[in-house]
Amino acid sequence: FNNELQRAEKMEIISDLAASVAHEVRNPLQVTRGFLQLLGERSASSEKAYINMALDELDRASGIITDFLTFAKPGAESIKTLSIAEEFRHIEGVLTPLASIHHGQITLDIDPDLYVRGNSSKFKQAFINMIKNSIEAFQDEGKIIIKGCKENGEIVIRIQDNGVGMAPEELKRLGEPYFSNKTKGTGLGLMVTFRIIEAMQGTLKFDSKKGTGTEATVRFPEASE
Ligand code: ADP
Ligand code: MG
Repeated sequence: FNNELQRAEKMEIISDLAASVAHEVRNPLQVTRGFLQLLGERSASSEKAYINMALDELDRASGIITDFLTFAKPGAESIKTLSIAEEFRHIEGVLTPLASIHHGQITLDIDPDLYVRGNSSKFKQAFINMIKNSIEAFQDEGKIIIKGCKENGEIVIRIQDNGVGMAPEELKRLGEPYFSNKTKGTGLGLMVTFRIIEAMQGTLKFDSKKGTGTEATVRFPEASE
């Protein structure tokens, strides 16, 4: 019992620390990126190559923070009853600008009376990582449809996109750390997503067809309001 308590306390200290580091490190990274970009515009092409490499590495560092700690706040580890509709309204607000930049849109179709137990920041992180992948997979007119409903007493959330899709060999590797097909990918996004969903006693399954699109299905035990 003592050990369990100590472990829980340690985990809380670590996640608090990670949250404050993420918060503090993000800004200087953004500022550095801005200055490097300015420098790049003014330099000879021989130097531009180095500056672009530096920019790529900065983006990788920001990507790691984004995939793990977008909503992390020190001391905010509480488990509550979450309204799926409310969480997704927030997620939609965060990701709609990114979807627009990539010439696509997000549509929500979520029943109002769906509740699960979990931590709101972690829940949002899990789904943002998935939906960001859908946006990054857009072909020309990107569409993401997010559905939420109750099926056989379970809460089911489906995220469909019409993006580039995946071959069976890729599908098998989803959630494996560092598995990425992107030049600026971390390969950590879905690993984080799987961990969060499993910790909430949920499951995550992907169906996909190369060239056509992908559907992710998440199932959670239902919580009462
Ligand atoms: P990252 O996005 O940094 O590459 P992820 O763990 O988020 O890492 O995703 C791993 C890989 O899975 C991606 O590089 C991509 O190839 C593939 N993938 C995930 N979701 C989708 C999707 N909706 N459509 C197409 N490919 C996807
Ligand atoms: Mg990703």
